[in-house]
Amino acid sequence: RQEQFRELRKVKPCTRDGQDITLQMNAGLLVDLPQLKESGASGIGLFRTELQFMIASTMPKVEEQQTLYRNVLREAAGRPVTFRTLDIGGDKVVPYFRSAEEENPAIGWRAIRLSLDRPGLLRTQLRALLRAAAGVELKLMLPMVTEVNELRQARELLDKEVRHLSRFGYQLPRSLKFGAMLEVPSLLWQLDELMEEVDFVSVGSNDLFQFVMAVDRGNSRVSDRFDPLGRPFLRVLRQIVVAADKAGTSLTLCGEIAGKPLSAMALLGLGYRNISMSPSSIGPVKSMLLSLDLGKLEAELLPMIAETESDRPVREFLTDFA
Ligand code: PEP
Ligand code: MG
Repeated sequence: RQEQFRELRKVKPCTRDGQDITLQMNAGLLVDLPQLKESGASGIGLFRTELQFMIASTMPKVEEQQTLYRNVLREAAGRPVTFRTLDIGGDKVVPYFRSAEEENPAIGWRAIRLSLDRPGLLRTQLRALLRAAAGVELKLMLPMVTEVNELRQARELLDKEVRHLSRFGYQLPRSLKFGAMLEVPSLLWQLDELMEEVDFVSVGSNDLFQFVMAVDRGNSRVSDRFDPLGRPFLRVLRQIVVAADKAGTSLTLCGEIAGKPLSAMALLGLGYRNISMSPSSIGPVKSMLLSLDLGKLEAELLPMIAETESDRPVREFLTDFA
């Protein structure tokens, strides 16, 4: 089957009824980059910048960060790369940075919260990203956004860095796309403001599922108890599509559910057209969508998730459909 998937590398991801889909891959280190060609992904939908910090014994300097980002962009050779700013804390431990022990690190001082409290850290990273993307497109997104206001604060820091670099004669990125990860449920009640504030939104379904269902993603005693393909979570995912469509904001999804053919199929049925996954999933997911009648799926799935009386699990419907 691996061989069969390899052969699909150059095949355009398009459903049987003619809908183009964008399949991107998740990455975090330079060694992941060769997978871009091997998998046939059209870009990197999530580059986890914290990986460089997690494997280092001291805080990476601005030059080291810049070198990594520049190499990633060079290896990507014109394919889009979405860099996520530092997402440390929670399950992502950086030994030289954590201060006090936290009782609930997943909802503690992490990601953009920490970045806004330590603006020097975020500004250094933004500077490295801006310099690395001189003359090309820079796409960046912020993790664990809880209130739209945090994006405004982050954008101020970004603008400061842009002004700083241009004052000192640095070449700036050709274009700059600013996005947010949607992985904290509070954003579901700020969808309209959110969509207006950013160029794109990327759903982090791992954390979003964890927080919507109140299940620790790393605890198998509970994490397998609820189904991401159950009605509550699918309704949440659909609600996001509707808001993004209404605002005309581009939408991607980069959590684990994008990488399993059955759940990827559900995502397409909900209206997702751009999903990012681990490189080894690109082949299986592409193979699924090439044979998918998406119009038929949409027509059946949307009433299915809205259903309030049915006992039939959506997963069962999806499996039969597949
Ligand atoms: C997510 O939360 O779905 C996500 C893609 O980010 P991470 O797995 O790195 O938290
Ligand atoms: Mg996350």
